[in-house]
Amino acid sequence: MENTNFFGDVCNFFDKAAKHLQYPAGLLQQIKMCNSVYHFQFPLRLDDENYITVDAYRVEHSHHMLPVKGGIRYSEMVNEDEVKALAALMTYKCAVANVPFGGAKGGIKVDPWKFRVGELERITRRYTSELIKKNFIGPGIDVPAPDYGTGPREMAWIADTYSTFNSSNTSQTDSMACVTGKPLSQHGIQGRKEATGRGVYYAAREACRVGEDMKKLGLTEGISGKKVIVQGLGNVGYWAGYLMQNEGGAVIVGLAEREGAIYDANGLNVEEVFKHRKETGSILNYKKAKNITNSVEALEMDCDILVPAALENQITAKNAGNIKAKIIVEGANGPVTAEAEEILLKKGVLVLADMYANAGGVTVSYFEWLKNLSHVSFGRMDRRYDESTHTNLVNVIENITGKALTQHQRSVVITGPSELDLVNSGLEDTMIHSYHQIRDVKMKNPKIDSFRTAAFVVAIDKIAVSYMDLGIFP
Ligand code: GLU
Repeated sequence: MENTNFFGDVCNFFDKAAKHLQYPAGLLQQIKMCNSVYHFQFPLRLDDENYITVDAYRVEHSHHMLPVKGGIRYSEMVNEDEVKALAALMTYKCAVANVPFGGAKGGIKVDPWKFRVGELERITRRYTSELIKKNFIGPGIDVPAPDYGTGPREMAWIADTYSTFNSSNTSQTDSMACVTGKPLSQHGIQGRKEATGRGVYYAAREACRVGEDMKKLGLTEGISGKKVIVQGLGNVGYWAGYLMQNEGGAVIVGLAEREGAIYDANGLNVEEVFKHRKETGSILNYKKAKNITNSVEALEMDCDILVPAALENQITAKNAGNIKAKIIVEGANGPVTAEAEEILLKKGVLVLADMYANAGGVTVSYFEWLKNLSHVSFGRMDRRYDESTHTNLVNVIENITGKALTQHQRSVVITGPSELDLVNSGLEDTMIHSYHQIRDVKMKNPKIDSFRTAAFVVAIDKIAVSYMDLGIFP
């Protein structure tokens, strides 16, 4: 499904929210528009010696803070409108999550599953060189990351290409901060792979913790036992489903992928379904689960929480009326269209908007960027020191009280944090804090009709203040 007015939709959401704020029209216009749009083509030599021309984009939506940040997607559906919309969403996402960056997005119009590894490497390295030529990449300028169709492998090629072209001693030192989502061995960070899915899980969990809101939806408090359907078993959907099940105690009743979907009211094991799909090439025919051949139909099955974590434009005016979920958590960017949202709001559905719900990825990207610039992994300097301080404290308490802790109690109290502990804790804090920042804005202004509008209000407000503090606008 192609939405040719995705950027228009994002701007409409923006306009709706801006009405609740008192900023000059010119300032709002400056925030809304894309600052730089770079569309280019380059030739690619295929392994069979034929040539094709590749269409590519990088859009920097807002330079109110630098660097700008956002993923690169490889998909046949990439077009200028889509990249602009996704770049704009990145600006608002960073603002909502308190990540001090502007927003950007890149796209290459190729189906990555149709190319061989060497071809993909040539595409990625050439794309990076084109960005370097135009100053569209760099640790303080524009920092890409993975998105649909890309992953750590592509990020490693980007980092390597960038550092080859920036070989002076000073620029070389920080060159690894030119891109995030890199493999661990290539200066990546623990927890980045799961980060977006983990953020989706924290978002859903936080919404379910607010008893007052759950009561209005006719649901009980807490994520445990909630019936969940996840669309997309890619990096975001897989980790969101896995963590909702294994850390949150939710029951995953449905999983949908391109080839079809499966449903089992008694619950599916996300990890097993993933393995089954890998082994058989399809999600269908998993144990006793019911097969649904038209994957989009799975979104209409019975559940409490629906997580669309595939692509944009999945819940439209056509199917919104049939959705049974009371809570939708947007793992993907733009899965619910503006028209669909109106229908869902009338039904009283709580839609946790993408710019908040999937902000976990860019949040941990920010941590990776910090790690690359400080040239030390989190916890490296203080872990052992913390452990010895905790040990001394426990020893003193045991001496004074004459009571000894069990081995388990001792290790819980003493153990210092690893990089992964710190990353997950920083991510959890961001998701909880941002949730309540958005919810508070909505609660204080009854005219704000949706969580998405409230999220836009939070984002626009922060960006407007930063422009005004620059002295550009009075
Ligand atoms: N592509 C991801 C997103 O849409 C991550 C962006 C990043 O880490 O910069 O949020």
